[in-house]
Amino acid sequence: MRDLLSIDNKIIWHPFTPLAGDPSQRVIERGEGALLFDTENRSLVDGISSWWVNIHGHARAEIGQAIAEQAAKLEHVLFAGFTHPPAIEVAEKLLNIAGPHYKRVFFSDNGSTAVEVALKLSIQARQRAEAANSPHVIVAFENAYHGDTFGAMSLSGRGIFNEPFSDLLFEVERIPEPTPGKEVKSFEAYDKLLRSKRVSTFIFEPLVLGAGGMLMYSAKSLEKLLEMSREAGVTTIADEVMTGFGRTGDILATQSTKTRPDLITLSKGITGGFLPLAVTLCSQKIVAGFESHNRADAFFHGHSYTANPLACAAASASLDLVQTEQCSNQRQFINEQHLNFKATLEARSDVADCRVTGTILAFDVVQSEDPGYLSEIREPLYNHFLEQGVLLRPLGNTIYIMPPYCIRQSELEQCYQAIISGLEVCLINRAGS
Ligand code: PMP
Repeated sequence: MRDLLSIDNKIIWHPFTPLAGDPSQRVIERGEGALLFDTENRSLVDGISSWWVNIHGHARAEIGQAIAEQAAKLEHVLFAGFTHPPAIEVAEKLLNIAGPHYKRVFFSDNGSTAVEVALKLSIQARQRAEAANSPHVIVAFENAYHGDTFGAMSLSGRGIFNEPFSDLLFEVERIPEPTPGKEVKSFEAYDKLLRSKRVSTFIFEPLVLGAGGMLMYSAKSLEKLLEMSREAGVTTIADEVMTGFGRTGDILATQSTKTRPDLITLSKGITGGFLPLAVTLCSQKIVAGFESHNRADAFFHGHSYTANPLACAAASASLDLVQTEQCSNQRQFINEQHLNFKATLEARSDVADCRVTGTILAFDVVQSEDPGYLSEIREPLYNHFLEQGVLLRPLGNTIYIMPPYCIRQSELEQCYQAIISGLEVCLINRAGS
């Protein structure tokens, strides 16, 4: 048999991975439910839904079937001047979920581009509404993460991911995210900006900031920030690339607030991990500036794979699954299990700030100083989890679980056990050093 790992190591460049190699890398051959199987038939519980995309687990038959049926009819057609049934079907389903505030669906193919689209639309819609001298001060959270393209990097908090490009990124005003205890600081900072600058746009990850450290805040705080934005006439963008499709409980995290954001970005879970797809949902405030027959007034943004029919067919099937009672019960079950485990973790002195929102559990391993993304405990913990048959990728010293909704109790238990034994290994290493 070919040595796939050594071939991979010579010719493939993996993201967020040192180019000289990753000794723990594995070749995954198949998946089933919450499990991944490598070429040596070792199984792994996918405790992070493969970067948060496989919400229904792996190889879900209904989605595979929908793609196969679509592939027999039409695999792709350009999306300017043409449309097709799967795009219309998925757009209708998305607007049904999001509610009557949203009027249009703009398709793209990954989370970063959905964010770029939202940002460009928010700026251009304002230019159209106000003509000259439009303000364009953009506000984002300090620890935001919105993707890896230049616009998305500019919106994201500054750090190791975007530091080499810092001179080239555009200016964004920052406010602290309103995590417990920091609410007043966050509101005051936003209020100050609204009074002193001509703020046009506020972008945020609702309820949970993902790659910035799984930082969680309440729907009440989000409502407050949305109300402040509405009163000041600021366009709001909810980046639901991670939180969308049931992660935080509701199908959309922004369904937990009364005030609706003007734009919503969605990707990751949209096709249940089968094919890349993203959308930006637009309210009338955004659409109004573009309602014209003049070609010069069009929105000039589009990717080759916009609204790919196979991806749309996958999304349609995934949306049906996420709205079933069974899926809702599973999300509830995971939330209850997480809350029980949270009580166990909170009894430990090496665990800080254990938090749960919907199907996400996160906590920080106590360290003498803030170690950031390159925390030295990250590597041994990651390897320990793999040895225990569990895929969990700590973000620095933050450990989190974000499982597929189909996960079984025994598999979830395996994740919890791996975390407890991983913490013990950390303690032993620390005592020995
Ligand atoms: N926004 C958020 C909130 C995300 O978590 C991510 C990805 N982690 C992105 C945008 C970028 O998505 P993608 O990786 O698909 O470009």
